[in-house]
This record gives sequence, C-alpha cells and structure tokens, in this order.
Amino acid sequence: MTRRSTHRPLPSGRPEAEATALPEPATLYVPLTSRRLRFTQMSVRDSQEVRAGDILATAPDQSDLPLLAPRAGTVRLTAVPGHIALEVARPAPVGTVVLDEEAIAATPPRDAVQDNRALLCRLGAWQCFRDVRTGDIPDPCHEPAALVIMVTAFDSFIAQPEALLAGKATDFVQGLKALHRLFSGSGCRIHVVVGEGECPTAVNEAIEAVALDPSRFALHRVPQLYPNDNPQLATQTLKLASPPQATVWAMGVEGVLAVAFALTLYQPYLERTISVGGPAVEKPRHVVAAVGHPIADLLAPLPSGCSFRIVNGGLMSGTDLAPQQQGLDGECPGLTVVHVPAAREFLGFVRPGRFRQSFSRCFLGTLFSPTPEPLTSLLGGEERACVACGHCEHVCPANLLPQVLHRYLYNDQMDDAQALGLDECVECGLCSYVCPCKIELREQFAVAKQQLRSDADDAALATAAASVTDQ
Ligand code: SF4
Ligand code: SF4
Repeated sequence: MTRRSTHRPLPSGRPEAEATALPEPATLYVPLTSRRLRFTQMSVRDSQEVRAGDILATAPDQSDLPLLAPRAGTVRLTAVPGHIALEVARPAPVGTVVLDEEAIAATPPRDAVQDNRALLCRLGAWQCFRDVRTGDIPDPCHEPAALVIMVTAFDSFIAQPEALLAGKATDFVQGLKALHRLFSGSGCRIHVVVGEGECPTAVNEAIEAVALDPSRFALHRVPQLYPNDNPQLATQTLKLASPPQATVWAMGVEGVLAVAFALTLYQPYLERTISVGGPAVEKPRHVVAAVGHPIADLLAPLPSGCSFRIVNGGLMSGTDLAPQQQGLDGECPGLTVVHVPAAREFLGFVRPGRFRQSFSRCFLGTLFSPTPEPLTSLLGGEERACVACGHCEHVCPANLLPQVLHRYLYNDQMDDAQALGLDECVECGLCSYVCPCKIELREQFAVAKQQLRSDADDAALATAAASVTDQ
C-alpha cells in the first residue's frame, strides 16, 4: 500500500495501551449531538426514571436511530442545554454495566436479516456503520458491496485497537461471525484491515475465525502510517470494491463489539474506551467510561494556570470540542489536549521551524530533523494567504489539488470545486498540517462537502415532491 505522503504518529503524549475504568460519576451529561448524529426527538420527560438501554431520544432524520440511556437514573432535561442530564440511580461497580433485562424490549427472530437490522438499530449498534464515501450512517434497508473493518488507528493520540480489544477477543470474533450472518444473503465481502507488525491477540483469533470462509472474508495489512487507517483510502488503494464506485460500508473495533452484544446477547454496548492524550496531558491513557461522562473528569488532572485546546478525536482527524459540550459523546474516539501559549513568540513568524517539524525547507526545523516537537496550538504568526508552495498537493493522499480547491471555495465556485474532485477528499488533514500559511484547508473542505450533500438531498426531495404533484 503506497501513498504519495504519510505521517508517522507522534510518540510523545501517546496513551498507554492499557485501559483504566473510571469511577461512575453521580451525573452523566449525554450530548444530543455528535459528529454525525442529531437527536432532536425526545422520548422521555423531565424527572422520568429510566433503565440502562432505554431510549432517551431519537434522530428523526437518520432512520430514527436512538440515543440510549447509558445507565439507570433520573432524567433532567433542562439542566444543561444540548444535553440530557442523567442522575445515576445506582452507581455501578467500577468496570461493569448496569443492565436491566427488561430494558431490551425488542427480541426478534434470530435468523431474519431485516429483524436483526432492526435489533441493531434499537440497541444502538447501527450507528457504528458508516458509508465510506459520504461518511454518513447508511440506511438499514440498503446493502453494501463490501464491509471494511478497520482494526487500525494511526492518528496521533487516538484510541488504539489493543486497548479497545483488551479482554474482548471473544466478543470481537462473535461480532465478525454475526456480521457474516447479517450479510450472508447479499454477497457482501468483509475486509479486515490491520496494521503491519504485531497483531493484537483478538485479531489473530479473528483471522482464524474468518479464514473459515475466505470467499467472504479477507485480511489486509497496511503500514502503520497515517492516514492508512482511513477506510475510504483503504477501499481505493486495496481495491476492496468492484466496481470502484460500489457502495462500501466501514466500521471500527467498537462497532464489531456493539454488533456482537446486540446480536448474540441482545444487549446494547454501553461502554466506551477512549484515549486521553496529547502533549498537555500529564498521564496519557485509555479510559473506560460511559457516554455522558463529564469531560472535566476525563481530562483531570490538567495543570492549573494554563490554557488548553481540546480536540474531539486525533491530532489530524479531530475537530475542536464544542465549548458547550459537557459530556462524552458516543462517537468520540479520544480527546487530544494541546497547550495554548499565553503569549506570542518573539519574532515567531521568522522562526516557526526551530522547534517544529516543517514540510518546507525554508524553516530551521529541516536542519535539526528529527526535531522533538513541543506541539502547541500556536500558529507562529498571523494567518497568511496561500503562497502557492504546493506542499498540500504533494502530501494529499487523494491526489487532489488542495490549493486550487481552496481558491475555488474562497471564491464561491462550488461547481468548479466539485468538478475538481472535492468529494474525493477524505478529510485527513495532511494538507492543513503541512501548509506553511496555516490555512484550515480540511475544515473548509469538510464544510463544503457537507453543503454539497445537503444541496443534493434538497434537490432529491424537491424532485420527489414534484413527481408526486404530477401524479
Ligand atoms: S485535500 Fe482532503 S484528502 Fe487531500 S490532504 Fe487535504 S484533507 Fe487530506
Ligand atoms: S500548502 Fe498552503 S500555502 Fe502551500 S499551496 Fe497549499 S494552501 Fe497554498
């Protein structure tokens, strides 16, 4: 698997592989929005008692996917805007989940594929699928040509497969088998992608399990470099789908575990294992926590008297944590924390490379490479206009021209950006990382792609409405 350019994950600030279970907080703050999900339809009243696994809210625009109560407790709807606060009724012993059997109402026949999909939706596991081209959660009524399971995480400070799989090898294998049954009638092939080198035990066991049916399963090893963990890139480079434009879905390790819990135990998978890392974290680690766990508890202890930038996700692929977000959301793979320097460096704009990696040979860092990198949010000067250096084009793994896309989008030439392949951007962030002018290219492309998708949805709705009127 070759790329025009890759990024080696930064070792400093990476979390330990072992995961620690955090003590149960008195109150969980369950966010109503996450990266792809918007839960706008409430299913509970204020002060209502709920059981673990009960539906708190649903996403009407996304197949009514549910937001589940991570624990039993009392609902407070107005305590924190944008969240459902849940006063935990019975603090669970550390590392276990309080599950009430009655909370799982739907138990359809085990062999009915559509019923199993309904069960996956009801138990919150369907949210773990994503369409690799759009990044959206796929429609449960559709079929993919291939399913890619990424047992990889190469972005710096992101939750590692070893931590996600610790003690869950059997569940992982069960999940793979359940997925095999789920797609048995459709001809969908399942591709497991792992990093080269040492394989987690669970993956080795899974390999043996999937080797039972090589016509339906395949294993691929990729170099441990970012962004080789991107499912869209893996699909293209490894040629996992035929024809290339076929629909491909993807999921990660926790998705497979959620499927195993739903289809073999009829339970929701209510634990999250996330990383808490980055240069500002004293003890980078993996933690096991429930959705809604207070962010402040997850990050503690942070040094006092400093400012921080908190990223929801990894260094490259994450986005700034919304300031109003109080609790862990269900899609967060890890929290990355970097210092925000209080003062600008003296003449920082002329020496941005002395202590930093730089893609450009103009900066001092190239003389001292490899440089121990004091990673902060400092840009080293003002934001600058594109200087047409071409670095972004050189590193783009999707073979795009980010600087031209940037210019088109800056001038509102959306059609031209689309014609140039905006849709092919996998939002890896390498272009933003190397840009000496620190232009937020990835963010600009992500917003534009979202705009294109919602315009296409609006157009499809208008066409459907017009055809109904004509009839
Ligand atoms: S244009 Fe997209 S795919 Fe290319 S480097 Fe930038 S974020 Fe990555
Ligand atoms: S890396 Fe930045 S400055 Fe260089 S061409 Fe790309 S957008 Fe322009």
